[in-house]
Amino acid sequence: MSKVDTSKQNAFLIDMTKCTGCRGCQVACKQWNQLEAENTEFFSGEGYQNPPAMSEYTFTRIKFRDYEKNGQNEFAFYKEMCMHCDDPACASVCPVGAFEKTPEGPVIYKADRCIGCRFCMIACPFGVPKYEWSKGLPLVKKCTGCHDRVTAGLQPACATACPTAITYGPRDEMIKIAEERVAKHPDKYIRKIYGKEEAGGTSVIYLTSLPFDELGFKKVTLRPLPEYTWQALRFVPAAFLTVGGSLSALSWINHRRDRLKNEQEDAEQVDTPADEKED
Ligand code: SF4
Ligand code: SF4
Ligand code: SF4
Repeated sequence: MSKVDTSKQNAFLIDMTKCTGCRGCQVACKQWNQLEAENTEFFSGEGYQNPPAMSEYTFTRIKFRDYEKNGQNEFAFYKEMCMHCDDPACASVCPVGAFEKTPEGPVIYKADRCIGCRFCMIACPFGVPKYEWSKGLPLVKKCTGCHDRVTAGLQPACATACPTAITYGPRDEMIKIAEERVAKHPDKYIRKIYGKEEAGGTSVIYLTSLPFDELGFKKVTLRPLPEYTWQALRFVPAAFLTVGGSLSALSWINHRRDRLKNEQEDAEQVDTPADEKED
């Protein structure tokens, strides 16, 4: 597969020291992507985040951590989402090209191509792609980087809703801003920009005041991950490797495509003004 020219790609600069924990980003993401509500619990054992994990209904969430500084109780936050990797492991293992790094930055998922093998879920080092286990004809779900909004000249929904912490724009400019902030306030920031080099570089970059591992950031190699993923996938059960080969698998894939078609038709009907609809 030829590599996409990402020299002009956009990126999220997420400055966790400016985050107030308002979770406007979580709500905006749910609204824009029309994601169902789900049962949640406030305390998950590792912090105060709600819901306790990302899911097919939650593409982003704010993780909370409290700590003590100079005798005062402080909060630190981490906005979890797809990293939109420059060289995405999910795309590199997908046998049918259902994931694609776009020149604008977002890594998108083409549901009509997906055969449900779930290699992407195993390959992603950030645990991002989720499977709709609750549905009869499941698809993979993850943050889209609001590619539809970005290609229409808008900012991603979460970036639009955020009052303080998220800046969105050309990746090289976002890195420059991040470097300037770290240089100007060395006492405030950890001297590292997460995502600048992690996994070979990503379209989501972070600044924090606490060490990344204390906030729950994953430790990943600086080299692009596709170099490693096929080694790991040799442990995948052979049943997955043959999923596209049997008649029952083909029938299952066709039913999923019917589901997608029906959903698209329903969405078009909702978008059509009432007076244009047939009686
Ligand atoms: S974070 Fe995971 S799902 Fe997102 S682009 Fe990277 S490998 Fe793919
Ligand atoms: S970029 Fe869009 S899909 Fe991704 S977390 Fe933000 S609002 Fe949700
Ligand atoms: S909208 Fe911004 S300030 Fe509010 S929780 Fe999300 S990242 Fe933090």
